[in-house]
Amino acid sequence: MKFQPTASHFIDGAYVEDTAGTPIDVIYPATGEVIARLHSATPQIIEQALTSAKRAQKAWAAMTGTERGRVLRRAADIMRERNRELSILETHDTGKPLQETLVADATSGADALEYFGGLAGSLTGEHIPLGGGDFVYTIREALGVCVGIGAWNYPTQIACWKGAPALACGNAMVFKPSETTPLSALKVAEILIEAGAPKGIYNVVQGYGDVGAALVTDPRVAKVSLTGSVPTGRKVYAAAAEGMKHVTMELGGKSPLIVFDDADIENAVSGAILGNFYSSGQVCSNGTRVFVQKGIKEAFLTRLTERLAKVKIGDPMDEAVNFGPMVSEAQMNIVLGYIEKGKAEGARLVHGGARLDREGFYLEPTVFADVTDDMTIAREEIFGPVMSVLDFETEDEVMARANATEFGLAAGVFTNDLTRAHRVVAGFEAGTCYINTYNLAPVEAPFGGSKMSGVGRENSKLAINHFSEMKTVYVSMNDVEAPY
Ligand code: NDP
Repeated sequence: MKFQPTASHFIDGAYVEDTAGTPIDVIYPATGEVIARLHSATPQIIEQALTSAKRAQKAWAAMTGTERGRVLRRAADIMRERNRELSILETHDTGKPLQETLVADATSGADALEYFGGLAGSLTGEHIPLGGGDFVYTIREALGVCVGIGAWNYPTQIACWKGAPALACGNAMVFKPSETTPLSALKVAEILIEAGAPKGIYNVVQGYGDVGAALVTDPRVAKVSLTGSVPTGRKVYAAAAEGMKHVTMELGGKSPLIVFDDADIENAVSGAILGNFYSSGQVCSNGTRVFVQKGIKEAFLTRLTERLAKVKIGDPMDEAVNFGPMVSEAQMNIVLGYIEKGKAEGARLVHGGARLDREGFYLEPTVFADVTDDMTIAREEIFGPVMSVLDFETEDEVMARANATEFGLAAGVFTNDLTRAHRVVAGFEAGTCYINTYNLAPVEAPFGGSKMSGVGRENSKLAINHFSEMKTVYVSMNDVEAPY
């Protein structure tokens, strides 16, 4: 098989196999072909990974931040040099077009390694003067062994967004990719070793939810960072709470994108396309509830459908193709179910709506208009290329409706009224907001959700606080006064 890795897991600097684990078939979504066969981690594999991480972590934390950073920056360079090779692998793992993976996956992972590599040498505590010459100093310490659990939409990116800040702070990581897309995290682990990371600092174990659950509950684990759905987040958060572990939860969304009638329509349509159809709609922060003010509704829908007619759907390895298959047959069927619900509940299908008559798990980009707030497609995360267009008349009305969701991952507004843009963003109940753009996630800026969409933030300097903790040290320069 063309993409068969040396073995399923990467532990203590080497590939490791245990064929007693449940088989995991890796399927190329564009053809349905099995491209690799891996095995889920057995209890022995999990034990090996945790033992190795625990053993390696203290020495890694004892290195200077500059030394740790050098390893991460070297790994970033290697990832960039191998971008094409890694992107081809990512395309086969996920089905995302090569046109996308060349610019959004290994490159984004490399950005995280470079950014946190750069920060590693400047991570410090502080000095706090007290009265009479006494003082306090704080020591920023690593948490220990961290577990990362990933979703299937951005496997390389997730492996690096979690690994890079964890390692920069002196932690060791055990990472479990989604079993749907298990291949690229192994490459991240390999590259880190090649860049000079000590063995055991970044381990990858494959498996289904039960492997994730075993990792989360292990007493040696100090922190869990999950990217996944809200139901999984709830379970993982609860399990982590038992052990009082640190958590970062990057979960799902049903984000609003509001287009006022003074907006630049071309830009708003571009934002809606980026926010609904990139990666075939499998992006957590997508603005899938597109509220369009009544005055421009028809013009917006006309331009949207005209532009969607130009989408190039096809073989994801063809660099001219900009819309690929869904990640799996199961996900395709979930999305088809939502499309049927949209029709049954009375939404007006204005574009797409069908599976493509070809091999692989292809759906058309789909747009529903006249969607109302109570329809299933407007309430639940679909995680596929289905845009719901909803009408609105006033700002107050749309703000109330935009926020009437349990999710709070992202939100966007298109308007040329400067004060309204900032007022609307101030009113959004969401962790990541966009004005006249959508779906950017550079490593320098915090990314994460409010409400049910998660806790904590990834990326930016804030991520450092989620992978380290402060030790407070009181120092007396004077005699100690006691009452007796
Ligand atoms: P899931 O929640 O189904 O799975 C996420 C990961 O958790 C998988 O690796 C899964 O393993 C694992 N897992 C499942 N059950 C448990 C458990 N009880 N204990 C520990 N680990 C477990 O998400 P998907 O993979 O289907 O990804 C889609 C979801 O991810 C969407 O809701 C999307 O919005 C969200 N997402 C959020 C992002 C963000 O940054 N906020 C970014 C990308 C996606 P397995 O797959 O083997 O079951």
